[in-house]
Amino acid sequence: MQESYIDALKNPIFQTISQAAEELAVDCYVIGGFVRDYFLDRDMPKDIDVVAIGSGIKLAEKVASKLNGNPQVSVFKNFGTAMIKSEGIELEFVGARKESYQRDSRKPIVEDGTLQDDQKRRDFTINALALSLNKGNYGFLVDPFNGMEDLGNKIIKTPLAPGITYSDDPLRMMRAIRFATQLNFQIALPSLQAITEHKERIKIVSNERILDELHKIMLCPKPSVGLSLLHETGLLPYILPELTALQGIEEIEGQKHKDNFWHTLEVVDNIAQATDNLWLRWAALLHDIGKAPTKRFHKKIGWTFHGHEYVGSKMVYKLFKRLRMPLNDKMKFVQKMVLMSSRPIVLSEDYVTDSAVRRLIFDAGEHVEDLMTLCEADITTKNPKKQRKYRQNFKVVRQKIEEVEARDHVRNFQPPISGEEIMATFSLKPSKEIGIIKEAIKEAILEGEILNEYEAAKKFMYLKGKELGLEISK
Ligand code: ATP
Ligand code: MG
Repeated sequence: MQESYIDALKNPIFQTISQAAEELAVDCYVIGGFVRDYFLDRDMPKDIDVVAIGSGIKLAEKVASKLNGNPQVSVFKNFGTAMIKSEGIELEFVGARKESYQRDSRKPIVEDGTLQDDQKRRDFTINALALSLNKGNYGFLVDPFNGMEDLGNKIIKTPLAPGITYSDDPLRMMRAIRFATQLNFQIALPSLQAITEHKERIKIVSNERILDELHKIMLCPKPSVGLSLLHETGLLPYILPELTALQGIEEIEGQKHKDNFWHTLEVVDNIAQATDNLWLRWAALLHDIGKAPTKRFHKKIGWTFHGHEYVGSKMVYKLFKRLRMPLNDKMKFVQKMVLMSSRPIVLSEDYVTDSAVRRLIFDAGEHVEDLMTLCEADITTKNPKKQRKYRQNFKVVRQKIEEVEARDHVRNFQPPISGEEIMATFSLKPSKEIGIIKEAIKEAILEGEILNEYEAAKKFMYLKGKELGLEISK
């Protein structure tokens, strides 16, 4: 028996669409994410997909003419779709279609089709649910692939044989993993096997689309779900080989190191509990990537990863470039976090001096709190005693940061004496002495020899000038 879900269609926009469709004598349905999220009780999505059994573009134009303010219709002729933005909602219209694919492209050959044809070309059964917007059976659910059952069982399945669905459009492999992570669903075994089998086809998907899905995975409450699925299916080496390289434990002469891949996943989950900042989460994902190329075994001291932070921060650039991520301040932020990722640990292992904290604040600048958040997430030891100790150490560092910053203001350090003033004081032309004096003032401040203020710095400048044999101009 068919069931009606008028409740899902409370937004008056659905009545408008229904009316427009009747006037054009076409059938239409709301389909995909909106319907899925309604049944999952998730926040109503901002984008609503409508499929017309006929021209989606004509329906969109009719709907727009009925809406307040006659919003503009953006038509994508090549795709046969049209989009309207109205009152914070994005309405996407498409004509029902039948698709067939060629081997070397994600772009299908498209023909007009029935609702069933259109549902068949959808990625997952839970994304193929449709609610009727037609007068005769308004709100009725059309679910030919048992999407409701799969929603109830929290399972991701494809409407067609999984091998076909994934191979036709390999982006769906990323989407399956992303939905599994977002919705906390299982991917059905045949799907997992098909993804594993067709993993290589991810090569025909653009970096931009892959990245979209990766970001969505990274923004989930437990990104490790998606990351380990990427690993398990063998997709990860095509996307982030730097991470795959961290996997495994080596043992020489009875000495082992930890598995840095699984450690990294734990760090990412930890940081996801502390921040929604996507780039800080990326920093957590990449903080140890320098460990694979720097790994060495020494008979006396065991495993080392010397300079992995520096090597890792260089790798961040290449990785961002390859994935077409922004090479801007976001990348610089991630690089900085990776480069500095061990600093608070080293600092907290010893007595925490003011000057060490001042240097940390100076180097991390406005990102010092983010750096502390990363370091706290990096604590993955299962030994409760050690865990308590590390947490306590970082608490001390955080306190010191506050104290020192309140007093010394080195967070956004501006030299208290300008180069111009140094030049004028000693009648200097541009020369290396100016740099030496500036650097000496900065060092004296960070070391706590002088206060971070004009008068103290000026006195120090005279002293330093004298040392360099410079004369004060009259
Ligand atoms: P969200 O908006 O949360 O990402 P969604 O399911 O709405 O989830 P969209 O990308 O907005 O995802 O796509 C809308 C609908 O279009 C999907 O529900 C699905 O039916 C269909 N769809 C999207 N991408 C694909 C694809 N690559 N292959 C098959 N169907 C797809
Ligand atoms: Mg959507």
